[in-house]
Amino acid sequence: CDFSNILSNFNFSTMTSSLDNINSMQSIFELDEGSNVVLQGRIGVGFYGEVYRATLENDNESGKCPRQVAVKKLKSSGITSSLQDFEREIDIMKSLQHPNIVEILGVVRDPEILLIMEFVKHGSLQSYLMMNRDSLHTQQLLKYSLDIAKGMDYLGQKNIVHRDLAARNILVVDENHVKISDFGLAQVMGENDYYILKTNRELPIKWYSPESLRDGKFSVRSDVWSYGVTMCEMFNSGEEPKLANITQKEEKGREQEVLLKLLAAGIRFPCPPMCPQAVYIRIIYPCWQNDPHDRPSFAKLVCECEDMVS
Ligand code: ADP
Ligand code: MG
Repeated sequence: CDFSNILSNFNFSTMTSSLDNINSMQSIFELDEGSNVVLQGRIGVGFYGEVYRATLENDNESGKCPRQVAVKKLKSSGITSSLQDFEREIDIMKSLQHPNIVEILGVVRDPEILLIMEFVKHGSLQSYLMMNRDSLHTQQLLKYSLDIAKGMDYLGQKNIVHRDLAARNILVVDENHVKISDFGLAQVMGENDYYILKTNRELPIKWYSPESLRDGKFSVRSDVWSYGVTMCEMFNSGEEPKLANITQKEEKGREQEVLLKLLAAGIRFPCPPMCPQAVYIRIIYPCWQNDPHDRPSFAKLVCECEDMVS
């Protein structure tokens, strides 16, 4: 049951031995033996994980209010490869500290692995856009675009490719501040500036560039492509963009092939009705250049957004 109160007596003294890596983080908890995570209700479910709203309580500080947190755990039906993916997600999050990236607070390993992160009050940008569709204005959406570009620029500097940039994976702190989350598909690049995909999990193909769809090739520049698609969602009240030429009948089972064919023919997602032409022409459309090197960098996108945010 989603909303049962589950008291999990996880002992924070087992907090990851690699805590040293994140010691530099000012906001990391002083976790001690008296800490408990109390899961409250499920707020999200994905391919291999579930996210719960939770409180972090400390027996030694009984007078203090428990801190609200979000907890990601593996689904019970999880397969072994999920555990490896989850460990990679945790490792990547531990290496990140930026105002536009969701903050990891700790890890519990016993009796099961839990990723503890800050709780971001307004949840996913996708649902926020849908709920506030009548009150959102261009300047606010441009501020979100700026926040995302800044967070992505930081990831690029760290040699990390996100691979799942979409409105569902952006969290809303308040009406003027968003953070990038869900590093479940993220990868640290090796010597090459691209990564060849090896996975059996379902992929968000609508957000993927031609080179990712065709060759499984991912890079900072394929994240730039996804950024353009994410901006389309933003200016379309959280609705997924559609290529007019794809009919339901054609799509079934052949989505990837049909999408790639249309993209190769130069067809792109249209300008959402609520999106100013200048935003589409200056920011969104350039992200969809066929050659990854012709796409703007995130640093350039930061400048473009800053220019347009008044
Ligand atoms: P998945 O791998 O299942 O897609 P996500 O990390 O994207 O996992 O989380 C799924 C959903 O849970 C998000 O879309 C969001 O609604 C919610 N969520 C995730 N992390 C947080 C958080 N730190 N604060 C608030 N809500 C969150
Ligand atoms: Mg997600």
